[in-house]
Amino acid sequence: MRLHVLSLGASEVDKGVMLTPGIDLGEWVMTPVPAYLVETDDGERVLIDTGLHPDHIADPGMTWRDVPMMASAMREAMAPEHRIEHQLGLLDLTVDDVTHVVSSHLHYDHCGQHFHFKGQPILVSGAHLAAARADPAFFPPRYFELPELNWVDTDGQTELFKGISVIETPGHAPHHRSFLIDLPESGPVILAIDAILSKHQVDTDSWVGQPDVETARASGRHLLSVAAARGASILFGHDPEQWVQIRRAPDFYD
Ligand SMILES: [Zn+2]
Repeated sequence: MRLHVLSLGASEVDKGVMLTPGIDLGEWVMTPVPAYLVETDDGERVLIDTGLHPDHIADPGMTWRDVPMMASAMREAMAPEHRIEHQLGLLDLTVDDVTHVVSSHLHYDHCGQHFHFKGQPILVSGAHLAAARADPAFFPPRYFELPELNWVDTDGQTELFKGISVIETPGHAPHHRSFLIDLPESGPVILAIDAILSKHQVDTDSWVGQPDVETARASGRHLLSVAAARGASILFGHDPEQWVQIRRAPDFYD
Protein backbone atom coordinates (compact mmCIF):
# COMPACT_ATOMS: atom_id res chain seq x y z
CA MET A 1 0.00 0.00 0.00
CA ARG A 2 1.32 3.41 -1.00
CA LEU A 3 0.17 6.97 -0.46
CA HIS A 4 1.23 9.59 -2.99
CA VAL A 5 0.64 13.28 -2.27
CA LEU A 6 -0.12 15.15 -5.50
CA SER A 7 0.09 18.88 -6.09
CA LEU A 8 -3.05 19.82 -8.05
CA GLY A 9 -2.99 23.58 -7.70
CA ALA A 10 -1.86 26.51 -5.59
CA SER A 11 -3.59 29.58 -4.26
CA GLU A 12 -2.23 32.81 -2.89
CA VAL A 13 -4.32 33.80 0.11
CA ASP A 14 -4.55 36.67 2.55
CA LYS A 15 -3.19 34.87 5.58
CA GLY A 16 -5.20 36.92 8.06
CA VAL A 17 -8.46 36.05 6.33
CA MET A 18 -8.01 32.47 5.16
CA LEU A 19 -5.39 30.85 7.39
CA THR A 20 -4.97 32.68 10.70
CA PRO A 21 -8.17 34.75 11.07
CA GLY A 22 -7.41 38.18 12.48
CA ILE A 23 -3.64 37.60 12.58
CA ASP A 24 -1.31 38.81 9.77
CA LEU A 25 -4.11 40.52 7.84
CA GLY A 26 -2.88 41.65 4.43
CA GLU A 27 0.05 39.21 4.40
CA TRP A 28 -0.24 37.04 1.28
CA VAL A 29 1.09 33.47 1.32
CA MET A 30 1.09 30.66 -1.23
CA THR A 31 -0.95 27.66 -0.11
CA PRO A 32 -0.96 24.18 -1.63
CA VAL A 33 -3.95 22.40 -3.18
CA PRO A 34 -3.22 18.73 -2.53
CA ALA A 35 -4.87 15.52 -3.65
CA TYR A 36 -3.89 11.95 -2.85
CA LEU A 37 -3.41 8.73 -4.78
CA VAL A 38 -3.56 5.52 -2.77
CA GLU A 39 -2.34 2.33 -4.37
CA THR A 40 -3.89 -0.57 -2.49
CA ASP A 41 -2.53 -4.08 -2.10
CA ASP A 42 -5.46 -5.28 -4.22
CA GLY A 43 -4.20 -3.26 -7.19
CA GLU A 44 -6.74 -0.42 -6.95
CA ARG A 45 -5.53 3.12 -7.60
CA VAL A 46 -7.76 5.41 -5.60
CA LEU A 47 -7.56 9.15 -6.24
CA ILE A 48 -8.85 11.24 -3.33
CA ASP A 49 -9.93 14.67 -4.65
CA THR A 50 -8.83 16.26 -7.92
CA GLY A 51 -7.71 19.83 -7.11
CA LEU A 52 -8.26 22.91 -9.24
CA HIS A 53 -9.64 23.00 -12.77
CA PRO A 54 -6.76 23.64 -15.23
CA ASP A 55 -8.62 26.58 -16.78
CA HIS A 56 -7.30 28.49 -13.72
CA ILE A 57 -3.85 28.44 -15.36
CA ALA A 58 -4.97 30.90 -18.04
CA ASP A 59 -7.72 32.56 -16.03
CA PRO A 60 -6.86 32.59 -12.29
CA GLY A 61 -9.97 34.58 -11.38
CA MET A 62 -12.47 32.33 -13.12
CA THR A 63 -14.15 30.97 -9.99
CA TRP A 64 -14.41 33.97 -7.67
CA ARG A 65 -14.24 37.01 -9.95
CA ASP A 66 -17.86 37.91 -9.16
CA VAL A 67 -17.67 37.09 -5.45
CA PRO A 68 -15.82 40.02 -3.81
CA MET A 69 -15.55 38.35 -0.39
CA MET A 70 -13.53 35.51 -1.92
CA ALA A 71 -11.75 37.47 -4.66
CA SER A 72 -10.37 39.94 -2.12
CA ALA A 73 -8.79 37.17 -0.03
CA MET A 74 -7.50 34.64 -2.56
CA ARG A 75 -5.87 34.43 -5.97
CA GLU A 76 -5.43 31.10 -7.71
CA ALA A 77 -1.86 30.41 -8.82
CA MET A 78 -2.18 27.24 -10.84
CA ALA A 79 0.68 26.14 -13.10
CA PRO A 80 0.87 23.51 -15.86
CA GLU A 81 2.60 21.06 -13.51
CA HIS A 82 -0.55 21.05 -11.36
CA ARG A 83 -2.49 19.19 -14.04
CA ILE A 84 -3.40 15.67 -12.97
CA GLU A 85 -1.76 14.26 -16.15
CA HIS A 86 1.56 15.77 -15.08
CA GLN A 87 1.30 14.63 -11.46
CA LEU A 88 0.34 11.07 -12.41
CA GLY A 89 3.10 11.17 -15.03
CA LEU A 90 5.61 11.60 -12.19
CA LEU A 91 4.49 8.10 -11.16
CA ASP A 92 4.50 6.76 -14.73
CA LEU A 93 0.69 6.62 -14.63
CA THR A 94 -2.09 8.15 -16.71
CA VAL A 95 -5.67 9.12 -15.82
CA ASP A 96 -6.79 5.75 -17.23
CA ASP A 97 -4.76 3.98 -14.53
CA VAL A 98 -6.94 5.51 -11.78
CA THR A 99 -9.57 2.91 -10.82
CA HIS A 100 -11.70 5.01 -8.45
CA VAL A 101 -12.09 8.64 -7.42
CA VAL A 102 -13.14 9.57 -3.88
CA SER A 103 -14.57 13.01 -3.10
CA SER A 104 -13.94 14.47 0.35
CA HIS A 105 -16.31 17.32 -0.49
CA LEU A 106 -17.20 19.27 -3.61
CA HIS A 107 -15.61 22.66 -3.09
CA TYR A 108 -14.10 23.90 -6.35
CA ASP A 109 -10.51 23.17 -5.27
CA HIS A 110 -11.29 19.52 -4.58
CA CYS A 111 -13.19 18.49 -7.72
CA GLY A 112 -11.71 20.69 -10.44
CA GLN A 113 -10.27 17.77 -12.43
CA HIS A 114 -13.16 15.33 -11.95
CA PHE A 115 -13.95 15.85 -15.64
CA HIS A 116 -11.13 13.46 -16.55
CA PHE A 117 -12.83 10.56 -14.78
CA LYS A 118 -15.95 9.73 -16.74
CA GLY A 119 -15.56 5.97 -16.63
CA GLN A 120 -14.42 5.43 -13.08
CA PRO A 121 -16.78 5.29 -10.07
CA ILE A 122 -16.70 8.49 -8.00
CA LEU A 123 -17.31 7.63 -4.35
CA VAL A 124 -19.06 10.39 -2.43
CA SER A 125 -21.34 10.96 0.52
CA GLY A 126 -24.76 11.10 -1.13
CA ALA A 127 -25.93 13.49 1.57
CA HIS A 128 -22.98 15.75 0.78
CA LEU A 129 -23.69 15.63 -2.95
CA ALA A 130 -27.29 16.68 -2.26
CA ALA A 131 -26.12 19.53 0.00
CA ALA A 132 -23.62 20.72 -2.61
CA ARG A 133 -26.29 20.69 -5.32
CA ALA A 134 -28.53 22.79 -3.07
CA ASP A 135 -25.85 25.47 -2.54
CA PRO A 136 -24.39 26.51 -5.91
CA ALA A 137 -22.83 29.68 -4.50
CA PHE A 138 -20.43 27.69 -2.29
CA PHE A 139 -20.22 24.67 -4.60
CA PRO A 140 -19.91 25.98 -8.17
CA PRO A 141 -21.70 23.27 -10.19
CA ARG A 142 -19.56 23.71 -13.30
CA TYR A 143 -16.87 21.49 -11.76
CA PHE A 144 -18.95 18.51 -10.65
CA GLU A 145 -22.34 18.72 -12.31
CA LEU A 146 -21.18 16.81 -15.37
CA PRO A 147 -23.63 14.30 -16.84
CA GLU A 148 -20.99 11.65 -17.55
CA LEU A 149 -19.77 11.34 -13.97
CA ASN A 150 -20.51 8.04 -12.29
CA TRP A 151 -21.40 8.94 -8.68
CA VAL A 152 -21.56 6.17 -6.11
CA ASP A 153 -23.24 7.01 -2.80
CA THR A 154 -21.13 5.53 0.00
CA ASP A 155 -23.01 6.97 2.97
CA GLY A 156 -22.88 4.56 5.88
CA GLN A 157 -19.70 2.86 4.63
CA THR A 158 -16.83 3.31 7.06
CA GLU A 159 -14.18 1.45 5.03
CA LEU A 160 -14.12 2.31 1.32
CA PHE A 161 -11.26 -0.06 0.54
CA LYS A 162 -9.08 -2.24 2.71
CA GLY A 163 -6.89 0.30 4.51
CA ILE A 164 -8.89 3.40 3.50
CA SER A 165 -11.42 4.43 6.17
CA VAL A 166 -13.80 7.36 6.26
CA ILE A 167 -13.91 9.74 9.23
CA GLU A 168 -16.96 12.00 9.12
CA THR A 169 -15.85 15.58 9.79
CA PRO A 170 -18.67 18.09 9.16
CA GLY A 171 -18.20 21.79 9.80
CA HIS A 172 -16.10 22.85 6.81
CA ALA A 173 -18.97 21.55 4.69
CA PRO A 174 -22.00 19.33 5.39
CA HIS A 175 -20.93 15.66 5.52
CA HIS A 176 -17.30 16.58 4.84
CA ARG A 177 -15.03 13.53 4.96
CA SER A 178 -11.52 12.95 6.20
CA PHE A 179 -9.71 9.65 5.68
CA LEU A 180 -7.48 7.27 7.61
CA ILE A 181 -4.92 5.45 5.48
CA ASP A 182 -3.35 2.38 7.10
CA LEU A 183 0.21 2.16 5.83
CA PRO A 184 2.43 -0.78 6.81
CA GLU A 185 5.73 1.10 7.11
CA SER A 186 4.81 4.72 7.78
CA GLY A 187 1.94 3.79 10.09
CA PRO A 188 -1.55 5.28 9.96
CA VAL A 189 -1.90 8.64 8.23
CA ILE A 190 -4.97 10.87 8.56
CA LEU A 191 -5.86 12.99 5.57
CA ALA A 192 -7.68 15.79 7.38
CA ILE A 193 -8.65 17.45 4.10
CA ASP A 194 -10.32 20.74 5.09
CA ALA A 195 -11.51 19.62 8.53
CA ILE A 196 -8.12 20.96 9.66
CA LEU A 197 -6.74 23.49 7.21
CA SER A 198 -3.40 24.02 8.93
CA LYS A 199 -1.51 23.31 12.13
CA HIS A 200 -2.39 26.82 13.26
CA GLN A 201 -5.98 25.69 13.85
CA VAL A 202 -4.74 22.93 16.14
CA ASP A 203 -2.24 25.10 18.00
CA THR A 204 -4.75 27.87 18.68
CA ASP A 205 -7.98 25.84 18.79
CA SER A 206 -9.26 28.55 16.43
CA TRP A 207 -11.88 27.43 13.91
CA VAL A 208 -13.04 30.88 12.85
CA GLY A 209 -13.38 30.93 9.09
CA GLN A 210 -14.90 27.47 8.96
CA PRO A 211 -18.53 27.84 7.81
CA ASP A 212 -19.90 26.10 10.95
CA VAL A 213 -17.38 26.99 13.64
CA GLU A 214 -18.53 24.81 16.55
CA THR A 215 -19.16 21.75 14.38
CA ALA A 216 -15.73 22.24 12.81
CA ARG A 217 -14.15 22.47 16.26
CA ALA A 218 -15.76 19.18 17.28
CA SER A 219 -14.60 17.52 14.06
CA GLY A 220 -11.06 18.87 14.44
CA ARG A 221 -10.87 17.62 18.00
CA HIS A 222 -12.27 14.26 16.93
CA LEU A 223 -9.49 13.89 14.35
CA LEU A 224 -6.90 14.74 16.98
CA SER A 225 -8.32 12.11 19.33
CA VAL A 226 -8.31 9.48 16.57
CA ALA A 227 -4.72 10.44 15.73
CA ALA A 228 -3.71 10.10 19.38
CA ALA A 229 -5.49 6.76 19.81
CA ARG A 230 -4.02 5.29 16.62
CA GLY A 231 -0.62 6.96 16.74
CA ALA A 232 -1.43 8.48 13.36
CA SER A 233 0.21 11.46 11.71
CA ILE A 234 -2.05 14.10 10.17
CA LEU A 235 -1.74 15.78 6.79
CA PHE A 236 -3.55 19.14 6.94
CA GLY A 237 -5.71 20.53 4.13
CA HIS A 238 -3.83 23.62 2.95
CA ASP A 239 -0.83 24.17 5.21
CA PRO A 240 2.12 25.90 3.47
CA GLU A 241 4.54 25.14 6.31
CA GLN A 242 3.72 21.45 6.51
CA TRP A 243 3.65 21.18 2.71
CA VAL A 244 7.38 21.78 2.28
CA GLN A 245 8.16 19.05 4.81
CA ILE A 246 6.02 16.21 3.50
CA ARG A 247 6.85 13.66 0.82
CA ARG A 248 5.28 14.67 -2.46
CA ALA A 249 5.09 12.74 -5.75
CA PRO A 250 7.16 11.07 -7.05
CA ASP A 251 8.11 10.36 -3.43
CA PHE A 252 5.57 8.46 -1.34
CA TYR A 253 4.59 6.97 2.01
CA ASP A 254 4.26 3.20 2.25
ZN1 LIG B 1 -9.78 22.88 0.17
